[in-house]
Amino acid sequence: GDRTDTLLATDGLEKQFGGFTAIDEVDFSVEAGELRCLIGPNGAGKSTLLKLITGTYAPTDGGLYYDGHEITDEEPQDRVKRGISMKFQVPSVYGELTVRENARLPIQRFADGDERRRRVDEAIEAAGLAGSEDVDASTLSHGQQQQLEIGMAASLEPDLLLLDEPVAGLDVAEREAIAERITRLNEEEGIAFVVIEHDTDFVAEIADEVTVLHNGAVFREGPIEEIESDPAVQRIYLGE
Ligand code: ADP
Ligand code: MG
Repeated sequence: GDRTDTLLATDGLEKQFGGFTAIDEVDFSVEAGELRCLIGPNGAGKSTLLKLITGTYAPTDGGLYYDGHEITDEEPQDRVKRGISMKFQVPSVYGELTVRENARLPIQRFADGDERRRRVDEAIEAAGLAGSEDVDASTLSHGQQQQLEIGMAASLEPDLLLLDEPVAGLDVAEREAIAERITRLNEEEGIAFVVIEHDTDFVAEIADEVTVLHNGAVFREGPIEEIESDPAVQRIYLGE
């Protein structure tokens, strides 16, 4: 038969908050193993789209499909079990807990015993924090905290990892470290990514494909070289 490698697809997805349409009939898809960046001006609906994919929000219309199954009405933890994991825009590392204690948080509901210990070690390794397991997370740099969160999301062994602004507020060296981390997880583990990011240099460095969201709708999709040089994309960023 006609087998496709589409991992995630949305069909006419819509999300209203009160009378306001934040996501407007969006058809968005992610292929297995691809690294897609999601860009667009503030308020475009990027975070909302990712939260609809994780099940944090329920859509007001349309459907979501993952690996051939409809997941529109599934609970967030069931979507995690299917292989969807997310690092949210708001940091969720607990400063008063150690690196290891933080790393245990996402996995404790999904694995126990040796399996849990292996995944916790994997999260710490994936974050580049081996040797710092017992320090309080509050002593980590902002970049290391972001890396810890990415490692924690990766420890759920997802096929699709959603990252909401993983390099916001980071310096060039920290951005570079995160770009390498994402690229490695994508190439070595075959994890597909959707990464929300504003910085076009960062997007150009990591992305295969780019989706531009504007006023809750898909405005453009294509390779970064096309998107970057598209005058209409430049105009929406200038707020015209
Ligand atoms: P982005 O991540 O692209 O900056 P968001 O997805 O956060 O945009 O928000 C899209 C629009 O939806 C914005 O106008 C925002 O104010 C609105 N919005 C987002 N979340 C909520 C919410 N929980 N309640 C009401 N309005 C919301
Ligand atoms: Mg956002």
